[in-house]
Amino acid sequence: MNATKRRAIYETLQSLNPHPTTELEYATPFELLIAVMLSAQATDVSVNKATRKLFPAANTPKALLALGEERVADYIKTIGLYRTKAKNVIATCEILLAQYEGVVPQTREALEGLPGVGRKTANVVLNTAFGQPTIAVDTHIFRVANRTGLAPGKDVRAVETALEKFTPSEFRQDAHHWLILHGRYVCKARRPECWHCVIEPLCEFKPKTPPPEL
Ligand code: SF4
Repeated sequence: MNATKRRAIYETLQSLNPHPTTELEYATPFELLIAVMLSAQATDVSVNKATRKLFPAANTPKALLALGEERVADYIKTIGLYRTKAKNVIATCEILLAQYEGVVPQTREALEGLPGVGRKTANVVLNTAFGQPTIAVDTHIFRVANRTGLAPGKDVRAVETALEKFTPSEFRQDAHHWLILHGRYVCKARRPECWHCVIEPLCEFKPKTPPPEL
């Protein structure tokens, strides 16, 4: 795909959604960190359902530690892998208090040093809580980047590198959210909905999905 098409894709997504953001509900960087940790292999909707009860009960490292692993697990038990996630949340809170005065650090290295925090989670927190132009590649973005030809790559790291290389700087901050939302609601995994896709004329995927028969 050439640079003109790439720019046009971002301009189109931007014109329809000038200020995209995460669908995870959060009020502080710490809440976002916990929500993103809980969202691994789970939907944002299921995470929001759990955190709407968890955060009013405890939304700081100190408060979550006071709550304890068992009760945290109870709040999040509707989310997949909840026992491991509860353990990681508690271990993360311990490190935040011991090493960072209870404050979420703003560097990739420090974030990736927290239990249950991988590159993708660190990228989301750096981008969404701290305004850094990182692009976290999840399953949706991986699919959209490859199908469209926007930034092909054989694994998520290769796609992240390609997106960083090919995304014009003015679109870097929001690229993650535009692409994730596009993958979640239009360029779906099993059947991309090409017939109502706003970037269809620019996308290089073939064959495009025809509209469903009435
Ligand atoms: S045209 Fe189809 S394959 Fe291309 S981005 Fe849109 S939904 Fe995805």
